[in-house]
Formats: sequence, structure tokens, C-alpha cells
Amino acid sequence: MQFDDQNVDVGGVQDRRGMGGPIAIGGGGVGIVGLFIYLLVAVLGGGNADPGGQLVPQGGQVEETGASSDLKTRCNTDGAIEKYDDCYLVKVYNEINEVWTDEFARSGNDYRPPGLAFFTQAVSTGCGQASSQVGPFYCPPDERIYIDIGFLEQLQQQFGAQGRYAQAYIMAHESGHHLQTLFGTERKVRAAQQAEPSRQNELSVALELQADCYAGVWSRLADERGNVTITDAELDQALEAAAAVGDDRIQQKTQGRVDPESFTHGSAEQRKKWFQVGRSSGAVNDCNTFNG
Ligand SMILES: [Zn+2]
Repeated sequence: MQFDDQNVDVGGVQDRRGMGGPIAIGGGGVGIVGLFIYLLVAVLGGGNADPGGQLVPQGGQVEETGASSDLKTRCNTDGAIEKYDDCYLVKVYNEINEVWTDEFARSGNDYRPPGLAFFTQAVSTGCGQASSQVGPFYCPPDERIYIDIGFLEQLQQQFGAQGRYAQAYIMAHESGHHLQTLFGTERKVRAAQQAEPSRQNELSVALELQADCYAGVWSRLADERGNVTITDAELDQALEAAAAVGDDRIQQKTQGRVDPESFTHGSAEQRKKWFQVGRSSGAVNDCNTFNG
């Protein structure tokens, strides 16, 4: 994947690595079940998830400017985007925000970018405490994407989701959840889940598949506008990443069996399909995963 320029803008990025809190981290691996969840995190966060809630960093103050300025310096050195995963992810985050800013402006709307925080082990969020084990997630109350870079390695090793474009897919998917917050979809779905607990999983799947579809829309728009250039092989990587985190594949790996009733994100087939729907249409309005 080629970018139209090599500038890495760390605005909106928090580097909270090395500030892990007291959460005990169990034996690795199993936590991947919670991949991409933010709902669960939000539920665990319970009542203290107030919009714009105060984040209480652990292990001291978040030196946002200090940490981000290190990142800024390193990520703007020659070849940094290729060399460092964090710089690559920030670059993708920049391109995602650029595309959605333009796309919103086309319909006369303002786009509010999500925040992005890197962490290790554990982190305090507007959705409560979270450990690395839940995988990358988006927290609606503080409108921020949380990523433990170590997780990406796990993704590669355990699920064979290879390549840089798979990482871009993750970022685009989490940004898709941010769109759902901006559009009010997330709030409505949360209310519907509370009203009808029996439909909780089904609604969660629809929400996740819509985020996959939005990721596909982004990849199309980014390509069209020349923000990024994506090869067919890279597109395959993205689709494979979408499939690798399908509930059926994860359940097969972690439990040795598949239980569709308990799906919360959708099957490999569904996730691939909805990414492709977004990719071929390039319009968020075509991402209605709630019908049928
Ligand atoms: Zn998700």
C-alpha cells in the first residue's frame, strides 16, 4: 500500500505505552475471542461510561505532548512508515481521517475524527478498564480507538492475517465504529439491545458487519482519491484479515467447535462479504446490515 505523501501527523494520538495498570494479564491467546469488541468493553465499563468522561491514567499522568512528540519525531524520519508498525498505523489513521473529512464535507457535514491511543497490557478508557486481550477496540464515550501493537503480532501468528494491509483493515474497521457513533447508530443499537436482550448477539453482528462494510467503503474512496494505492494482493490480505476474525474461525481455533448462536461479529464469509459490499459500492448508505 502506497501513500500519497510520507508525513505522519500525530495530532489526536496518545502514546500510553508502558503505562499498563494493575490488571493481571492471564496466559496469552484466548483473549483474541474478544477481538474488535467494543461493546463488551462498554458493557464491562458499566455506569461510569459518561460521554467525554475523565480518563484516569494509571502509573502517573499521561504526558501526551511528550510521548506524542517522540512518536512525531521518529515517525517523520526516512522510511519510518515502512519500518515501524506504530508509524504505519498512525499514517493509516491520518488517511482514514482525511477521506472521511472530505466525504462528510461533500454532504455539507463536519467530520469529527476519533482519537487514537497506543497502550500495552492494560488501559483506562471511557468504557472502563481494558486489557490487551480484548484486541483493538473503539470506545464510544471517549470516541477513541485503542490498540496494543503486540496484538498485531498475535493476529499474524494465530490467525495468519498477514501483511500491512490487514493492519489497515483493523484501523478502518475501528474507524467504522466511530462513524456509527457519529451517525447515532451505535446509540440506537445499544438501546434496542437493552429493550430486546434476546436480539443482543444478532444486533452486535449487524453492527460489526457494518463496520466491516465502512472499512470497505474507505478503501474504495481512499483508492479513488489517490490517498493510498492498493494492489489486488493487498486487497486479498484485507479480505483474509476480515475472514480470519470471523466468529466461526475464532471459535474453531479457541473452542474447537462453532456455535452460530453465540456469534457477535459474524462469520468469516459474512465479514468478507460486507467488506466487499463497501469496497465495490463506495457509499456508506449501501452498508445497511440491519435489514434481514
Ligand atoms: Zn468491531
